[in-house]
Amino acid sequence: MEPRYLAMYPFLPEASQYLKDNGINLGDIINSGAYAQARDAGRRRVMEALVDGQISEKVFTNDLEIMVELLSYVVARIIVSCVGQDQILLERYSLAEAQLVQARLENESLDFAIDTANILGLDIVRLNTTEISVHFSDYLKNSSQMRSQEWKLLNQVMDEGRVELGQKRLARLMQNAVKSNIMKELPLPVNDSIIEAFAPAIELVKVEIEKRKAQFEKESYGKVSFLRLPPCMKEILDMGKKGQNIPHVGRFGITAFLHTIGMTNEGILAVFSSSPDFKADLARYQIDHITGKSSGIEYLPPECATMKTQGVCYNPDSLCNKKWMNHPLTYYSSKGKKKPQKKKPEPKESENSA
Ligand code: SF4
Repeated sequence: MEPRYLAMYPFLPEASQYLKDNGINLGDIINSGAYAQARDAGRRRVMEALVDGQISEKVFTNDLEIMVELLSYVVARIIVSCVGQDQILLERYSLAEAQLVQARLENESLDFAIDTANILGLDIVRLNTTEISVHFSDYLKNSSQMRSQEWKLLNQVMDEGRVELGQKRLARLMQNAVKSNIMKELPLPVNDSIIEAFAPAIELVKVEIEKRKAQFEKESYGKVSFLRLPPCMKEILDMGKKGQNIPHVGRFGITAFLHTIGMTNEGILAVFSSSPDFKADLARYQIDHITGKSSGIEYLPPECATMKTQGVCYNPDSLCNKKWMNHPLTYYSSKGKKKPQKKKPEPKESENSA
């Protein structure tokens, strides 16, 4: 495979083989001055994912740029691993990588997209010049988070247990496949000398994570108000009440959300108790884990971008559509804010007054 493709799809097994064949080892990447550019690019890759929620597309004009792009992926994974088990970082980084792959795959030949999907373990067969079919089990595995009608299995064209798709929808499925692969793989084991070598980059990433957490944690949400809930959280609660299956990310999101706005664990348990499939012990175990009582980590609910890609951004309204809306907690605090009252104009002095 051409090195350009390896730089664009660095998760392919050929990419690590290519590095081996060129005599590039981890020690050199971490310590050698020759790879300083790649280390910078790796740090930028993580920071772009964390701050902007996306990794920018690059144009490669020569072999050096191709190699820097490929190694930036390796370095980014090391930096993320050095930070450790941080949910915000892992979610944002894996999503940004997956979205980059999706955008790139949309513009490749259909054969290339199929080969890449096969390497990731999806059973894909080409049907004609524009369409493929995927085995329904792979379809379900990679679309179960997407709850819009267009992704429901019932609404798909199927033939002998296979779902028929065009390239754009295949690329979207691949986004989920790549993201869950990255989430499974990271964090990688790293030793102290690696952590030391990347200390400045790790510090930069940690500061940014803390900034993001502080944005929500320091906020006082006042008295818990169900009237201010964003549409996604309202819908998740409604699904629970109706006994519908709530996706994992939805259960996690509503629990972390209610905890962050100040509800007690008993209060959250009471909210869930109206669900027909309520099991008190299991619910209590999950609530205590997510709220940090048993795990020591207080999780924040996912951002809007993650809620969207996981298919649990339900019924977004006009407030959701504001450019600055990026988090269900932002929705909640904005909804609670009183609009500034327009100052009444000072009464003009009457021309007739004395
Ligand atoms: S845009 Fe955000 S706040 Fe609004 S429904 Fe979607 S996830 Fe919830």
